[in-house]
Amino acid sequence: MSHSASQTTTELPVIEVHTPARRAILELNRDELTTWLATVGQPKFRAGQIRRWLVQRRIQSFEEMTDLPTELRSQLTAEFNFSPFEIVRHQIARDETEKLLLKLHDGELVECVLMRDPDRRTVCISTQVGCAMGCVFCASGLLGVKRNLTPTEIIEQVLVLNRMMKDDERITNVVVMGIGEPLANYRGLMESLTFLTSKDGFGLGARRITVSTVGIPDKIRELAQSGQRYNLAVSLHAPNDALRTEIVPVNKSIGIQEILLAADDYFEMTGRRISYEYVLMSGINDQPRHAEELASLLRGRNAHVNLIPMNGVSELVMTAPGDPDTQHFLEILERYGIAATVRKRKGADIDAACGQLRLNRVTANGDSASLENSLSDTN
Ligand code: SAH
Repeated sequence: MSHSASQTTTELPVIEVHTPARRAILELNRDELTTWLATVGQPKFRAGQIRRWLVQRRIQSFEEMTDLPTELRSQLTAEFNFSPFEIVRHQIARDETEKLLLKLHDGELVECVLMRDPDRRTVCISTQVGCAMGCVFCASGLLGVKRNLTPTEIIEQVLVLNRMMKDDERITNVVVMGIGEPLANYRGLMESLTFLTSKDGFGLGARRITVSTVGIPDKIRELAQSGQRYNLAVSLHAPNDALRTEIVPVNKSIGIQEILLAADDYFEMTGRRISYEYVLMSGINDQPRHAEELASLLRGRNAHVNLIPMNGVSELVMTAPGDPDTQHFLEILERYGIAATVRKRKGADIDAACGQLRLNRVTANGDSASLENSLSDTN
């Protein structure tokens, strides 16, 4: 898992990652870890022991790696960071949804969320610091994009939530629906998904992972060819290009038809039904005519529509429609034979829409460097 900054699409402004003084241990691949172990006179097999602790067990420090010699544990503590980030804020909602605000080594912030359902534990992870897509209803994009997350920074969001879970719980699903556009950090995404699905990594089935995208056709096809059948969710939000370009500005250079064709190819190649996300905003894209136009776009396609009443963002004026309008929209889709559901809200009392915690912190403090100062004042 060794890497430097990742940048896969040339058109996106992404700032290079600076190497921190102390590396997070997970940044080392097995060979690098073995080489380091040799320098402190330790045998190869320690690498496997260390990685097992980091990936599968619920510990918070090197000291707790009880099958390692005490001296090695101290050497690890001196040489490496246990995790590539620090937990700045941990919120638990009444419905047991948990949300973390994480500070990266360069002071940047990202979020990840754990959602609990009776039969599943779903983790929602971020792939970039901020987002360049500029969707008008989304908190993540209001400040633009700072940089891509490294594969380790993506993976560790899953691991850090896993370490916090109760003994009898385990993560069953991962949704890449946090901050950022995953297909704009394609290499970072693929390296992390490879780790999450591999037997000697986290060992999650590809069908338990969903990648949500604004819709980048060539990357959708590349994902289809990756050899793993991930679920694909396409954030559509409007049934025609004029409206979509207002809501999702990058649509201007892409267009709905191109996205639908790429999604059709994805279905052809993987057999996975495509999920179309549609954030409902009162008076903007929630009218019966929008539902009818959406139905005609998707008719005959192997699709499922996920209606998401917009989560309020304090900086924005748009709001969710009332329940009757949402139901009416759903009924029109159903009448035309389109499979659709309304997404259940989770963590409503803890700023559930991803990007909000970061946005609130960054704007309240001017920037994330002053966040550090304000935290050290209070700690
Ligand atoms: N960039 C990717 C993944 C991150 S956004 C994408 O566009 O899909 C994940 C999902 O959350 C998207 O469907 C996005 O449109 C939705 N979302 C963003 N802000 C929201 C808000 N305020 N209310 C409801 N859903 C929102």
